[in-house]
Amino acid sequence: MDEFASAPGLPDVPDEVVRVLSVLPSASMVVAPDGTVLRANARATGLGLVAREAVTVADIRHLIQRAADDGHARELEMRVRRPPLGRELLELRVRVAPLGSGAILVIIDDLAEERRVDVVRRDFVANVSHELKTPVGAISLLAEAVLAAADDAEQVRHFAERMQVEAARLSTLVQDVIDLSRLQGDDPLTRAEVVSVDDLVMRAVDEVRTLALRSQIEIEVGEPCGSLVYGDERQLLAALRNLLMNAVAYSASHTRVAVGTRVSDSLVEIAVKDQGIGISANDLDRVFERFYRVDPARSRVTGGTGLGLAIVKHVSQNHGGECTVWSEVGVGSTFTIRLPIYTPSQTSNESVLEVEMFSEAPRPVGTSGEAQS
Ligand code: ADP
Repeated sequence: MDEFASAPGLPDVPDEVVRVLSVLPSASMVVAPDGTVLRANARATGLGLVAREAVTVADIRHLIQRAADDGHARELEMRVRRPPLGRELLELRVRVAPLGSGAILVIIDDLAEERRVDVVRRDFVANVSHELKTPVGAISLLAEAVLAAADDAEQVRHFAERMQVEAARLSTLVQDVIDLSRLQGDDPLTRAEVVSVDDLVMRAVDEVRTLALRSQIEIEVGEPCGSLVYGDERQLLAALRNLLMNAVAYSASHTRVAVGTRVSDSLVEIAVKDQGIGISANDLDRVFERFYRVDPARSRVTGGTGLGLAIVKHVSQNHGGECTVWSEVGVGSTFTIRLPIYTPSQTSNESVLEVEMFSEAPRPVGTSGEAQS
């Protein structure tokens, strides 16, 4: 919070107002009726709206003047060139409200930022609607086919089975959309607990093993790491399961998938390595985007929603970590989730004991030795 003028004759700024200004996300300031800036928060100074105890934008100065003259609160949207260079256009919503002391409170929101968030949200809704159309359209066509083939039991069975596949696809997509919007909205750690990384790996592998066996893909698990993380177990499990399911889905039969854990400084790495089709350098940057698929046709065959890696990315980030990828076409891919290791200092003795029992020396990633990322 910048304190500017406090000369005799200028109104006092009450302490409560100063405290409110310091926590407001909007650019905000308190201005004397003559236009002198008494207090401004960092956002206001950062946007260049205040310099040398003065409001730099003429339109804002006029609005303050009018509020000072008649004592009425006002709101106005305006486009201004960002001071001092004027290269960037700001779209501002400015609210001015006279305070009892004679000073004027000014609160300014950057609408361009709000609009950017809106665009992302609208794109997502458009994408989801588009993605929903495919299975819904397929189910509707299949229903027509069932009606047309009502007398042919074999055909009816065939179409009904395909309807089941499409319905399952629809329900996976809806679940992924729900998961992703929760991850982007909720406080991710409201259901946080201490989670053992080794348990997490075992459970995720158990869930995917049947699918892997069907494709004759073997999943190898490395030595336990003994690390704990603090987080939402359900989310972490979903992230790891997504990586394993992809490793299986994008690999040929009779290949291997390896899951390894490794401690690196204060982080634990969980690496899922496959010998699958790989991802080209061009696509590598984009695979974490929502609905991005390298090969949409293949993704349809595997039943992918295009949201799996976006979920993995958000889960990792919400837990203070990250997910990275190494890949080479025709060789395979390694996806690595890094998470902060839970340190027991902030909890009871019981947890300290638990951690000591688990702790072990660090080991290399992967079961086959060479780390890829
Ligand atoms: P999908 O549901 O289509 O699998 P994801 O978000 O999980 O969506 O992955 C996005 C895209 O990244 C996939 O469509 C696929 O092209 C590529 N991909 C993900 N994992 C792998 C992998 N292990 N090997 C090769 N390509 C992968």
